[in-house]
Amino acid sequence: MDFKKEKTLVLIKPDGIQRGLIGEIIHRYERTGLKLIGLKLVLPTEELVEHHYLVDPDWKIKSGQKSIDAYLAKGLTPPSSEPEKMGELILEKLKKYLTSGPVIAMVWQGMNAVGVIRKITGATEPLTSDVGTIRGDLTIDSYEIADVDRRSVRNLIHASSSIIDAEKEINLWFKPEELINYRLVGESILYDVNLDGILE
Ligand code: GDP
Repeated sequence: MDFKKEKTLVLIKPDGIQRGLIGEIIHRYERTGLKLIGLKLVLPTEELVEHHYLVDPDWKIKSGQKSIDAYLAKGLTPPSSEPEKMGELILEKLKKYLTSGPVIAMVWQGMNAVGVIRKITGATEPLTSDVGTIRGDLTIDSYEIADVDRRSVRNLIHASSSIIDAEKEINLWFKPEELINYRLVGESILYDVNLDGILE
């Protein structure tokens, strides 16, 4: 695979749109040097949301376990100690959250796209995401309060967690003709081997 063509899917979730953060979020990704190759406003269906999270067959177990670990790390009792059951509960709430209003779907491309986007996005729970990340800086939710209200953690963004998931998610959200291959002038400083052609 051409490392310059690594792709990742990003969704700005309904809370990001309602908070007026579309521009701020795109700005943060754009200035990394990654290239935006697809962008649209979508009102997702519950089916699309379910397909989206289940592109990774282990998603329920992984996200259920992650959530259980977060509870235990804070000395709290998780709503269920079974990862799969926790994952199912999370998915049901996610369907409600992501179908509540329009989302922005985007594809970003460039070297290390998946890792760079995840780093800037920050960890799942805004309360404990690092300062400087989108989730850490721009919102305030926690697992604890989301659970009291029986809703999903509102964390502004979805970002693919691996190259394999990204490929499946992009196929789900975009038709091939909706992604545009083009060159950015600024890319040469990121990718040219010899950096010749700068000095006159
Ligand atoms: P991500 O890759 O960081 O988005 O995390 P996951 O794929 O594990 O979870 C998907 C989404 O489900 C998150 O972005 C949250 O919106 C929501 N979510 C995850 N874990 C929990 C949880 O323990 N409780 C609640 N209420 N929502 C959760």
